[in-house]
Amino acid sequence: MSPTKDQLWTIRRLIQWGSDWLGRRGIENPRLDVELLLADTLALTRMDLFLDMDRPLGPQELGAFKSRIKRRSQREPVAYIVGVRGFWQHDFQVDNSVLIPRPETETLVDSVLSLYPQVDTNLKILDLGIGSGAILLSLLTEFPNAVGVGVDISEDAIKIAEINRDKFKLEGRATLIVGDITSQLSIDTKFNLIVSNPPYIVSNELDKLQPEVKDKEPRLALDGGKDGLDIYRPLIPHAYKLLESSGWLVVEVGYDQGQTVPDLFKQAGFKDVSVVKDYGQRDRVVKGIK
Ligand code: GLN
Repeated sequence: MSPTKDQLWTIRRLIQWGSDWLGRRGIENPRLDVELLLADTLALTRMDLFLDMDRPLGPQELGAFKSRIKRRSQREPVAYIVGVRGFWQHDFQVDNSVLIPRPETETLVDSVLSLYPQVDTNLKILDLGIGSGAILLSLLTEFPNAVGVGVDISEDAIKIAEINRDKFKLEGRATLIVGDITSQLSIDTKFNLIVSNPPYIVSNELDKLQPEVKDKEPRLALDGGKDGLDIYRPLIPHAYKLLESSGWLVVEVGYDQGQTVPDLFKQAGFKDVSVVKDYGQRDRVVKGIK
């Protein structure tokens, strides 16, 4: 049933055992998760595992692997267990104080890139609700002359964003501030570009999400109130004030907010408001210019 001392537990057998064990507990892609957790335990890549399937694990490695599998069976996301998640060009450090960067959010980064074809442009970027830093730090990497400010209401999230900023050697170009999404920034500057992936899930819908999300990710980063728009309502006019003329606001939205959020943009005075779809053809990003 579980790996014991008297058996030789090779990578091959552990992948089999772990996939069965997690699969029986209702984990969706058990084999992939087991491979990721085993690779992490052994400080190897998944490819390394396949090249050395008959390698046995020592007792300490086995213990470390089992504790990861146990955490996963309790619905902790793999990204929190291994502590990193790949997004755009970087491996972001994550823990349960930040939302795990999603592939859909790369649509936002992509939309910004198409707004500014010249990568040497001198952008001043503000990220409202920065979380792990996925959006702002990816943009700073793409635009080598850009500088940015990131704000988050969670002090723990700002700590993670700082770790990532320093890891990617962007410390000279990003200022990170603990604060509310509409708080007055002590920085006396306007921005050319404001980005945000605010909480936008309708409160009542939250409990229908997978346990990995609803029980393990920060509610603060997900809960958009009664109609999912609670944060956009103050954020959009506030962003308008902080933008220079011809500055862009680019935000992520839920798949069913491709009508309501553009309306809020227009009410705030934004022009050229449009919706961008993600790779799954769902409305995902709204942008508008001041
Ligand atoms: N995309 C996330 C999810 O559906 C939600 C992110 C957010 O609220 N900003 O789990």
